[in-house]
Amino acid sequence: TESLARIEAGNGRINAFVTTCRDSALQAAAEADARIAAGSAGPLTGIPLAHKDVFCTEGVLTTCGSKMLANFVSPYDAHVVTLLKQAGAVMVGKTNMDEFAMGSSNENSHSGPTRNPWNLDCVPGGSSGGSAAAIAARMVPIATGTDTGGSVRQPASFCGVTGIKPTYGTVSRYGMIAYASSLDQGGAFARTAEDCALLLSAMTGHDPRDSTSLERDADDYSRDLDKPLAGLRIGLPKEFFADGMDDDVRAAVDAALAEYRKLGATTVEVSLPNARLAIPAYYVIAPAEASSNLSRFDGVRYGHRAAEYTDLNDMYCKSRAQGFGAEVKRRILVGTYVLSHGYYDAYYIKAQKLRRLIANDFAAAFQQCDVIAGPTAPTTAYALGAKTDDPVQMYLGDIYTVAVNLAGLPGLSHPAGFGKSGLPVGLQLIGNYFGEARLLGVAHQFQ
Ligand code: GLN
Repeated sequence: TESLARIEAGNGRINAFVTTCRDSALQAAAEADARIAAGSAGPLTGIPLAHKDVFCTEGVLTTCGSKMLANFVSPYDAHVVTLLKQAGAVMVGKTNMDEFAMGSSNENSHSGPTRNPWNLDCVPGGSSGGSAAAIAARMVPIATGTDTGGSVRQPASFCGVTGIKPTYGTVSRYGMIAYASSLDQGGAFARTAEDCALLLSAMTGHDPRDSTSLERDADDYSRDLDKPLAGLRIGLPKEFFADGMDDDVRAAVDAALAEYRKLGATTVEVSLPNARLAIPAYYVIAPAEASSNLSRFDGVRYGHRAAEYTDLNDMYCKSRAQGFGAEVKRRILVGTYVLSHGYYDAYYIKAQKLRRLIANDFAAAFQQCDVIAGPTAPTTAYALGAKTDDPVQMYLGDIYTVAVNLAGLPGLSHPAGFGKSGLPVGLQLIGNYFGEARLLGVAHQFQ
């Protein structure tokens, strides 16, 4: 009830939720109460939860931030949604996001932008900006997100909350509307790493309905929370600390690293020489996959259909022209171009080679350290509208996050202090494959 009341009081200003589910939430809460009374409660029983609107929810709208799916009600639950229901978490609503998870500011949403609870004139980050803002505004204690190129970590950083994207294949993509399938990964938001660990533990485990789901048992991500940091080697990629980050971000990150040293960790310089190629590689591979994934929205099977058309082809064209926003169209065009005959080798294959080089850089760096640390984003949250006319500027904000997805590694962002005008700064921790328990433990020791 309190979570619903906070959403009702604050959502008019923040626009973090696109749908709230009062009745089903109250019913689920009553069932949770019964489980608690019967002594059969788990760690998430009765805990209010928000799902990013990219996860299909049976009987509840799933818009994916798009006019294309403005009226779409899925006939089934995403695997993550099923798991969290089974864990007893109470879904109070669905959170705002950039259309089809394409964006870094939440301004590409058909439902209008989410606002940053720390400063309503600023963006919350994206694409999972609604989930991050919902946590920051204390509307819910836990929320899901997805991260294809930083969409959990960057909004966590802008909103001063904790967010983790696990190793690729850890969270099932079944029922998670696809953007770029080889990069998409579900993740968890909460105020603290401790709460993220509880949420992530309930979201993971092998799912035969996702062919890239890892055949590993569900992990207990809380297991390293109390592990001391003495002896921990933190790698600082020199490329991340070169020019490019704002002074106030640098100051907060440096102060957090000093705190880590006080807690017993040591820092070593490492190098990711190909990291500068991550943005160009990502902005070829992600649109290429998106152009293929989004071809299913043709106005025939589901989604928006134009009211008037002359023939089948005209119906496809008009439905897609009306249903998709500008950024989604831009990516479909870029993706179609880089995959077309004659350009495939020059762009797509080249980007795949860069992807391998970037993954190799991380493998070499992890010979020298246990975790890698750096900024999550080069800036704090910026003003609404500041970058909407310049997509390349928007893309450059993903400089520290996309390499992690290209390599399939786990990454976390935790609050590291405040920058200009009191806006939060996030510190990013990157782990080796399956290193999420340690990442969460490291962040927990800091917090
Ligand atoms: N900002 C990146 C993009 O626009 C990442 C988005 C995401 O992780 N879903 O593609």
